[in-house]
Amino acid sequence: MTAPTVGVDIREVDPRDGLQIETPIPTAAKLELVDALAATGVRRMEVTSFVSPRAIPALADAEAVAAHLDRWPRVTFSALVAGLGGARRALAAGLTRLEYVVSASDGHSRANVGRGSAESIALIAPVAELVHQAGGHLEVIIAIAFDCPFDGPTPPERVSEIARRAVLSGADSLSVADTIGTATPVRVCDVLTRVRSAAPGMDLGLHLHDTRGQGLANAWAAYTLGIRQFDASVGGLGGCPFAPGASGNIATEELAYMFEDGGIATGIDLDKTLSAARVAERLLDKPLGSGLLRAGGRPVPATAAAD
Ligand code: ZN
Repeated sequence: MTAPTVGVDIREVDPRDGLQIETPIPTAAKLELVDALAATGVRRMEVTSFVSPRAIPALADAEAVAAHLDRWPRVTFSALVAGLGGARRALAAGLTRLEYVVSASDGHSRANVGRGSAESIALIAPVAELVHQAGGHLEVIIAIAFDCPFDGPTPPERVSEIARRAVLSGADSLSVADTIGTATPVRVCDVLTRVRSAAPGMDLGLHLHDTRGQGLANAWAAYTLGIRQFDASVGGLGGCPFAPGASGNIATEELAYMFEDGGIATGIDLDKTLSAARVAERLLDKPLGSGLLRAGGRPVPATAAAD
C-alpha cells in the first residue's frame, strides 16, 4: 500500500474540552499550558468557552485568558459558545473564530444549555449574523452526533438535517462530535457521508472522545473518507460535564503518531506534545491516560540521522 501524503489539520482542545471538567486552575497555569501546547507546532487551538461560569466554573476566566493570546501569533485561537450572550462576550474579548454547539438530542441539549435542540438550531442564524458583523468565522459543532446519554441513539438523519440547517443559517464550517465516545468506524463513515451530502463543499471536522477505545479507529476511518480536520487534546484530557460517563478526547500525541507514522504530515512535534502533556499532568496534579505518554514514541537509534 502506498502511504497517503495529504496532511491533516489538528485542533488542540486541551484548554477548553480538556479543562472544563477539572478542578479550576489559575489563569496563569492555563497560560503556561497554552504556551506548552503552542510549542508543539499546532496551528489551531480552542482555548476556552464563553459560557455560564456557574455551569463551567473551570472556564470562568475566559476573558482573562483571551487577553493574553497575542503572545502566540502563529496559533489561530477559537472559543466555544452556547448562545448569543457567549458570542457577544467572545467577540468583545477579541476572539472572532467561534464554535457554536448544537446538541442533536433534546436530552443532552437541555442538560448542556437549558434549551431543546430545535431552539439551539434556531439560534444559529443570529449567532452567525453577530459573528459575521465582527468579520469572524462561525463553526457549528453538532454534538451528540451518535448517541445521547439521556435519549439513546441519535438518528443519523437528524445529524444531516442539522448540518443542512446550519448551512442555510450561515455556518462557515461544520464539525461532528462524538461527545460521549460511543461511535465506531462504520457509524462514523455513515454519519460523515450523510453530512457531506447535506452540506456539500463545507469544511467538515471531527471531534472524537476515546471513552470506549474507538477514537483512533474512528479518526482513521474518517481520514479514508477525506476528513482532514480533527480535534484532539494533549494527554487525552477532556470530557463533557453534562454527559455522564464521558471521558477524554483522543490524545493529540496518539493521533499525530498514527498519521505521521503513515507519512501524513500533522505539523506537530511528538516530543513537544509529550512535554506539554507532562505540563498538564503537573498543573492538574494527576496522571493522564494517554498510552503514548506512558510508553513514549517509536524507539530511534542514537546514531540515526536527524531527518
Ligand atoms: Zn468533547
